[in-house]
Amino acid sequence: MGKFIMNRHKLIFLLTLVLAMGGISISLMSYSVSKASIHRAISDNELPLTADNVYSEIQRDLVRPVFISSMMASDTFLRDWVLDGERRVESISKYLQEIQSTYGTFISFFVSEKTRQYYYGNGVLKKVQKTEPRDVWYFRVRDLNQPYEINVDKDLAHQDALTIFVNYRVYDYAKNYIGAVGVGLTVDSVKGLIDGYQEKFRRSVYFITSEGTVMLSGSKQHISGSHVRELPELHALLPQITSQETGSFEYRYKGSDRLINTRYIPELKWYLIVEKNESEATQVIRNTLYINLGICLLLTALAVYLTNLALKRYQTQIETMATTDSLTHLPNRKAFEIIIDVIMQERIRYGKDLAVILLDIDHFKQINDRHGHFAGDQVLTEVALIIRSCLRSVDFVCRWGGEEFLILLKDCNERNARLLAEKIRETLETRPVAHKNVPIHLTASLGVAMVQNGERIEQVLERADYAMYQAKALGRNQVIFSNFKNG
Ligand code: GH3
Ligand code: MG
Ligand code: MG
Repeated sequence: MGKFIMNRHKLIFLLTLVLAMGGISISLMSYSVSKASIHRAISDNELPLTADNVYSEIQRDLVRPVFISSMMASDTFLRDWVLDGERRVESISKYLQEIQSTYGTFISFFVSEKTRQYYYGNGVLKKVQKTEPRDVWYFRVRDLNQPYEINVDKDLAHQDALTIFVNYRVYDYAKNYIGAVGVGLTVDSVKGLIDGYQEKFRRSVYFITSEGTVMLSGSKQHISGSHVRELPELHALLPQITSQETGSFEYRYKGSDRLINTRYIPELKWYLIVEKNESEATQVIRNTLYINLGICLLLTALAVYLTNLALKRYQTQIETMATTDSLTHLPNRKAFEIIIDVIMQERIRYGKDLAVILLDIDHFKQINDRHGHFAGDQVLTEVALIIRSCLRSVDFVCRWGGEEFLILLKDCNERNARLLAEKIRETLETRPVAHKNVPIHLTASLGVAMVQNGERIEQVLERADYAMYQAKALGRNQVIFSNFKNG
């Protein structure tokens, strides 16, 4: 039985292991499949699409200022005013103001090659100088081979706001270079666009130079106003990012995986980076994973609980079967062996008497021979019932083997044991068993022994058996009491 219990625990352990492992591996597998597909969707579709949109938005934003600047460069008023000696500053500032108000948010300017004066809506801002780093752009435009350039710079006239300038070359009617004209576009509109992406799609959009300086980003981004070197893992990717027109990369930042798509913007000489926090995007499926794992654990616990319950029930059943005699339904010898130690200890502890009776049916072979084996079986069953009916509920009776029964009488002295044995004998004798309406008369011989102090149960049984043997020898159908002293 001990072996069985161990096996049950082992079985439960294995079942738990199999169910839990199965559930966990299925959950993890579906998680990794979902995660991979989300990863693909982000890096193959979402990010490149956003980059395309931002890029075309920028190009669209740049078309208008380029067009306005080209109009200004060919404006006869401007050229005449310069050729006329740049008199009356008010008229040029009024002209520049008009451009500004007509076209909205742009700022507008003109720098004269002859006087090096920088004109804007409010008059003369300054004189450009070759030695001034901030004026380098003008001298670059002066030597330009193309009609215009786009330059991103801080705007002196507007508290150094980051501005995209279109610098257009101006010629007189004889095709001589006479200055640079153009408009500036604050990047606020691009910033708004970036913020929109951040809000709507939870993806970051920012621009870096080839050196890694962050030029433009949304207002609430982890990277705003910094240099990529503050994000070492992104910084490590810089050589790769700047060596190709577009690319997809991954890096880790503060414990989360970031997927990025990069694209070179030739007009600005910047790299546009669209980034998504993959860990954030996979949060939902991670939650699903946790729920799945929870369900799997719950189901495992339930299955294990139910299996354990069933096994326990079977075990009890098997144990009952092992300790019960199937014919008489009395406990068997095995059951006696299980309980006898406890009963013997109780006798000592409470100082109570304990009597043992061994009963054997007389000439049982003859009953079998005369009435058949089934009749014999019936006799055994009824004898069991008769014995039980003579006993108190605290007493114990078992089928000792064949047609022998063993009775334990708890808290029962010599006299009462004798009386009870006699009562059983008499009842059996006077109550024939009816088999197919034929009465089968029977008697039994009984040996009674009181458990003595210091005596082992084997010795008591031996004495009871000897007393019973004596009853047989003395003619059967009688009770013999074992006298301890006589043995
Ligand atoms: P005695 O008075 O000396 O006890 O004679 P006896 O015939 O009862 O003696 P013995 O012990 O030699 O015979 C017992 C018989 O009981 C032998 C066996 O065939 C029979 N028997 C044992 N178990 C069963 C059983 O389960 N059913 C039936 N029908 N007979 C059984
Ligand atoms: Mg016998
Ligand atoms: Mg017998």
